Amino acid sequence: MKRVIVPFFIPHQGCPHQCVFCDQRAISGKSAPLTEGEIVETVGRWRAFSASRSVEVAFYGGTFTSLPINLQERLLAPLQPMLRKGEVSSLRVSTRPDALDMERVSFLRDRGVELVELGVQSMDDAVLRMAGRGHLAAHCEEAFSLLKCAGMKVGAQLMPGLPGDTSAGAISSLRRLLPLGPDLLRIYPAIVLKGTELATLYAAGRYTPLTIDGAVSICKVMLHDAAVAGVRVIRVGLHHSEEFAAGGEVVAGPYHPAFRQLSEGERWHDLLTLVCADFSAGDELEVSVSPARVSDLVGQKRFNLRRIEDRIRVRFRRVRGEASLGLDEIVVSCGSMTVRDNILKRLRYDGSMNVNKEQP
Ligand code: SF4
Repeated sequence: MKRVIVPFFIPHQGCPHQCVFCDQRAISGKSAPLTEGEIVETVGRWRAFSASRSVEVAFYGGTFTSLPINLQERLLAPLQPMLRKGEVSSLRVSTRPDALDMERVSFLRDRGVELVELGVQSMDDAVLRMAGRGHLAAHCEEAFSLLKCAGMKVGAQLMPGLPGDTSAGAISSLRRLLPLGPDLLRIYPAIVLKGTELATLYAAGRYTPLTIDGAVSICKVMLHDAAVAGVRVIRVGLHHSEEFAAGGEVVAGPYHPAFRQLSEGERWHDLLTLVCADFSAGDELEVSVSPARVSDLVGQKRFNLRRIEDRIRVRFRRVRGEASLGLDEIVVSCGSMTVRDNILKRLRYDGSMNVNKEQP
């Protein structure tokens, strides 16, 4: 059963730097300091609607471990009785990779924090420098090592498309990160938000954001590599919050409310292209995938099928959801010929986002 995550935002609190892309107030829509009473009341309210699902509490938005220790204590203390009684199952915090040491990690672990989400953004030092991050890729490696040694889970956030980044560089960042063993990933293609340094660079013509198509091409590879490595990607693209809809905080960049579906759809398009190459022009194909994958495979307005029909000249007679198929499987048939395949086994991308035609 899915857990309920109660999110608290501590926008920009504890941040020793101002990253060029970040305006936490725009993202969280909230800037007042959290009080103990507010924490207790909010968790209670969420618990009332959680049914029997377990409740996790998360602190997002700032650099938790750079807050003064008495403030960290003040935020975590009201949750301790709830942890002891089992009303809250676990805690998570987000922080910067260079804001951790053994002492801070032990402090978090002793107070029930199970997962730390790191703002990695890139594993390229030049990109990190241009983004004003103030840390290096080596800090990410050290942070992973400290947290893993303490038996904690680690989440990582990556941001393709920052100044100085390239498609190959963004993919290479993920490929350097995966061996460190992240337990989950978030992928947020860089968006130009109002009031940020990135918006100033963009207005001056010194920064060109990714297009939606460009970002989708990168993110499909990142999603695929993560899936092959067995790492869960819990978010791709910024949350379609009401603040964005109402306030128009996005100035430019690859922002799309269905960004993840576009990226997943490209993976399935690439797989279907490979599988269809085994058939001949004019063949009328029946395709089956798990019901959960039908919309990814077909694409918006049948975009994936139309592209393949135009290119390979096969015809899709029917695409259906087949409950007995696994989430990664596909079956394509025409007459007596049937091809069964698996996206994780068949599809590989090289560092330039091209499908690797060799069988992995
Ligand atoms: S991205 Fe993170 S570290 Fe950078 S300014 Fe925003 S909250 Fe602070």
